[in-house]
Amino acid sequence: MFEGLAGRLQEAFARLKSKGKLSEADVDEAMKEVRRALLAADVNFTVVRDFVARVRERAVGQEVMKSLTPAQQVIKIVHDELTALLGGKPSTLNLSGRPAVVMLVGLQGAGKTTTAGKLAQWVRKQGRRPLLVAADVYRPAAVRQLQTLGEALKVPVFSVDGDADPVEISKSSLERASQEGCDVVLVDTAGRLHVDDALMEELERMKAAVVPGEILLVVDAMTGQSAVEVAEAFHGRLGLTGAIFTKLDGDTKGGAALSILSVAGCPIKFAGVGEKLDALEPFYPDRMASRILGMGDVLTLIEKAQQTVDAEKAKQLERQLRAGEFSLEDFLDQLRQVRKLGPLDQLLGMLPGMNKIKGLGNLQVDERQLGRVEAIILSMTPEERRRPELIDASRRRRIASGSGTRVEDVGRLLKQFKEMRKMMKQFSGMGKKMARRKGFR
Ligand code: GDP
Ligand code: MG
Repeated sequence: MFEGLAGRLQEAFARLKSKGKLSEADVDEAMKEVRRALLAADVNFTVVRDFVARVRERAVGQEVMKSLTPAQQVIKIVHDELTALLGGKPSTLNLSGRPAVVMLVGLQGAGKTTTAGKLAQWVRKQGRRPLLVAADVYRPAAVRQLQTLGEALKVPVFSVDGDADPVEISKSSLERASQEGCDVVLVDTAGRLHVDDALMEELERMKAAVVPGEILLVVDAMTGQSAVEVAEAFHGRLGLTGAIFTKLDGDTKGGAALSILSVAGCPIKFAGVGEKLDALEPFYPDRMASRILGMGDVLTLIEKAQQTVDAEKAKQLERQLRAGEFSLEDFLDQLRQVRKLGPLDQLLGMLPGMNKIKGLGNLQVDERQLGRVEAIILSMTPEERRRPELIDASRRRRIASGSGTRVEDVGRLLKQFKEMRKMMKQFSGMGKKMARRKGFR
């Protein structure tokens, strides 16, 4: 989802980035495009108007941040405001009661039953013991659907045969939970094709009977703005604690997700991204905003870089890059700068495109190996660091024993360094450009 919106915003910002200094007219031009993009993505009109006004005010009146270009600053503001629109900080699931009760409500076909199964799996991963409750009694198939899910997950399912009252079912499910040693009760309720009074009344009675810590609206993201209207209706009657958007794997414009908090006052807690039982993700407003802006979490990276990287050092590095005199000392310096930013695997995950590389989630960058590299370089003399070609076999042995590593380790590092220097020389003409792109200005 968000493909259309993302494409248009990225285009608008590409144009902005091509300008060095930004005039108020440039900002206005970009804001016009942002406005059009949001409206085309089906974001609520009032939400768009307020959003653009806020961004414009901040963009025009902004204090100058030395390490960001004007365009980057505008993008950062848009990113901040998108994040706020999506709820700011991620909201957690309230599982405080014993048992904690979570009620899933929503229209028919929204994905309640499927999501109940997904949540059962999710809370179990949190170390809790879920009980699924089949309180959609109007369609026999619904009970069977939940039982099948329960079997697949090996999670107990509470259901009552015959013409049982959903309110009674949910009440007795609490007893069953304590008998079975379950500490999270997930109640799957009935839906209708449209919001109607009978449904609301029944849900109100259920709420009164089990006092849930969470009443989550399950909405189909494919239904666009009507998802927001549904949220308003349910929130008015039941006091929702959050929403779960399903079918975000589909081709939705995403406007509803961007409108629901402002219009219906309901934060998104999870996103359903497929039919399988593990296709449920906690909803992170800032990551979603980054995804829309198409930069991985590059903005976070910019922020971190801004705090940590010493601008003077960066300039010096740039000069050296241009002169092609990058030494092992500089390499060590770089290594330390990068490490100051945080754990390497986390950093890699923030780089654009990296999150698309399969298996990166399992990537473990070996911090110990970095420590080893550092030790090796520290065991060299300053002369050796500047002119690695001096390092012959006997020097290698000395460095290895000085750093507690093996001769092969020293050899490997030198080889890598040589490769890197060769590459840098080729790039040296582009040094300035590269440095700027990394936010090292
Ligand atoms: P309910 O009537 O609200 O209980 O809805 P169901 O849980 O029965 O789901 C209705 C349909 O939507 C089923 O075919 C589900 O497989 C499908 N569905 C639910 N969530 C998702 C999702 O996140 N992505 C996709 N692609 N399909 C989903
Ligand atoms: Mg159902």
